[in-house]
Amino acid sequence: MSIKNVEILRSIDKKELEFIQRSVKVDYDNRLQRPLSFSHQNREHKVTELLGTFKGDLSSRDISYLVKTQDGGTYLLYLHFHDPSPQSFLCPCHWILDFRVLSDEEMMFFFKEERKMLVNMQLKRVVDFHGHLCPDLVIGCKAHELAMERLSQKEKLDGGLIVIAENKTSALDAIQCLSGCTLGNQRLKVHDFGKHKYTFLISRTGLGVKLSLKEQSFKDKPEYLELEEKAEKGEATVEDIARFQSLLDERVKLLLSIRHDALFDTVITTRKPPRTETFTDLAQCDRCRDLVLKSRLVNIKGFSMCRQCSSGLILSSTDGTCH
Ligand SMILES: [Zn+2]
Ligand SMILES: [Zn+2]
Repeated sequence: MSIKNVEILRSIDKKELEFIQRSVKVDYDNRLQRPLSFSHQNREHKVTELLGTFKGDLSSRDISYLVKTQDGGTYLLYLHFHDPSPQSFLCPCHWILDFRVLSDEEMMFFFKEERKMLVNMQLKRVVDFHGHLCPDLVIGCKAHELAMERLSQKEKLDGGLIVIAENKTSALDAIQCLSGCTLGNQRLKVHDFGKHKYTFLISRTGLGVKLSLKEQSFKDKPEYLELEEKAEKGEATVEDIARFQSLLDERVKLLLSIRHDALFDTVITTRKPPRTETFTDLAQCDRCRDLVLKSRLVNIKGFSMCRQCSSGLILSSTDGTCH
């Protein structure tokens, strides 16, 4: 979900809602599988955006739709299925307009300010880059801050930096944004072992610091895992997702408040910085005819092949198109 929608989830969890809970008539597009409009208080509300679909909690087939309407309102439309009566040929379902999310103007309460307070300026830059604020992003920010502090105690931080990361989580965006070490400039090397381990090296001297995340005890862990699993399986209701967002917010808050050295173990190391590649020359693969960096070609029985062809991953020349 985008950053604005996350605000909506926070509002749902905090029950900043006008509960309506009335039957409504909905114009539903079967092809697009989304509501087009609904009528409420003698007015037709045109749906301009579907923010998300969720499982309902009244029966197992129920679905709820979080929608934005033309006038800027956000509503939850709930499609409830009930047992069909034998006499009736009508569809055994009906729509309920469940609630409207109160707007910012309606909620000029202090906690809106409190939420914004979470974001210090450096973090704001990282959040803008990444798209949202999440626990892994905070871990990445703190890893960078701690590494810079430790290295600057040992050496002047001039010259380039190289980062070796052992996961592929949101933390990498924080590190790329703050350190300027990116995948593109090859000063960020990623080995996805699924570990929050980061080595920051001064490329001139090879002096570095290796950080490993310490185990953190979150007391919400069972609930967090349960909600995460539900969301993963597509079985979460809108309240579940909103609750999950609030748990994420809590974790962000907690991670921001933890001292850096309570978050990571650090070891000072020296190692030869990994090489950055400067070759840009391209040559054709003898099999698929794609242009490939020369350094990535493999020689198989006298033929130069790209790695995909050499490992037989490309089965036919039409496989490369994606839809
Ligand atoms: Zn993230
Ligand atoms: Zn090839």
